[in-house]
Amino acid sequence: VATGAPERGPGTEAGVAALDEFSLIARYFDRPGAERQGVGDDCALIDVGGTTLALTSDMLVEGVHFLPGADPRLLGHKALAVNLSDLAAAGARPRCFLLALALPRADESWLAAFSRGLFALAAEHDCTLIGGDTTRTPPAQAGGAQRGPLTICITAIGEVAVATYCGRAGARPGDDIWVSGCLGEAALGLAMRRGEIDCDAMEIAPSHRDACLLRMDRPTPRVALGRALAGCATACIDVSDGLVGDLGHILARSGVGAELRWADIPRPGWIQNLDIATQHRTVLAGGDDYELLFCARAADRTRVAALAAPELAVSRIGTIESAPGLRLRNGDGTLLKTTLQAYDHFASGP
Ligand code: ADP
Ligand code: MG
Repeated sequence: VATGAPERGPGTEAGVAALDEFSLIARYFDRPGAERQGVGDDCALIDVGGTTLALTSDMLVEGVHFLPGADPRLLGHKALAVNLSDLAAAGARPRCFLLALALPRADESWLAAFSRGLFALAAEHDCTLIGGDTTRTPPAQAGGAQRGPLTICITAIGEVAVATYCGRAGARPGDDIWVSGCLGEAALGLAMRRGEIDCDAMEIAPSHRDACLLRMDRPTPRVALGRALAGCATACIDVSDGLVGDLGHILARSGVGAELRWADIPRPGWIQNLDIATQHRTVLAGGDDYELLFCARAADRTRVAALAAPELAVSRIGTIESAPGLRLRNGDGTLLKTTLQAYDHFASGP
């Protein structure tokens, strides 16, 4: 999801622009290849020797994914975390990564803090920096165009057990839908930072506010859970663009529909003090939580529930159905009408 761009709320029109982000990719970049199909999943898989590698690439762009002046240590963490999150969705064990940087200037205190944040997370996951590229962004133009934005692109490489790999296409009617952790905090953090939520007026405790900002700035990739799901999940994706949109990718690729139960979707208890539209927007369509959203056979319910840890819950939030589309059910059984959509980098622009 993007930080610098306007958020798309309930009822937001898809826009008159011809091409959304995913149609753009499908039309111009999705080509059948000799390697295992990759476009459309969180990672691409390639067979090398006796192992299968999972590869993913994610970019952070100043003014789009983070605001100018963002804490470089947190940026270093987040740039790698969002990539490790894609490896987690593929059930991969992180191995190494490449780092491409376009920097406005060689600012040593920025670089020291950025690399500290980057390498701390890399060490946690035993993931080695093996190469990359470093360039300077174009200078500011006399006509007023600003210096090119700071851009960080990481390509991460992991290893998967291909026999148990699931991707996004394996969900079947009757499967349970699960999600790890809790949803909505990162989007609430972003809304707070943008001044869209007045914490004082809404009596949101400082500890809750800090937790939301931390979720936004310092996501935790669910690598261990992703690996533990191997052989158990039928489909998996990480929640980067919002629950409804990311589940939509599983549904589209699996050729199924789903019902979600609003009451069962994990979210911080205090958000019930916010108006229901804000609750829906942040929990259902807020991105950047980097939790894992996955499907599993109902027969594996006990096995999945046993993966819950004190620091990371797993919640059963719905069911895969054969009828296409996504239905959201309220606690009282009525259907919730919503036009919420995932963040799309091109949906609202020319
Ligand atoms: P994620 O959020 O999991 O990183 P994205 O939503 O960014 O995935 O991308 C969706 C799919 O499209 C992924 O499989 C990704 O590898 C692929 N993709 C995105 N951009 C391109 C591109 N320029 N060329 C080829 N494939 C792309
Ligand atoms: Mg992903």
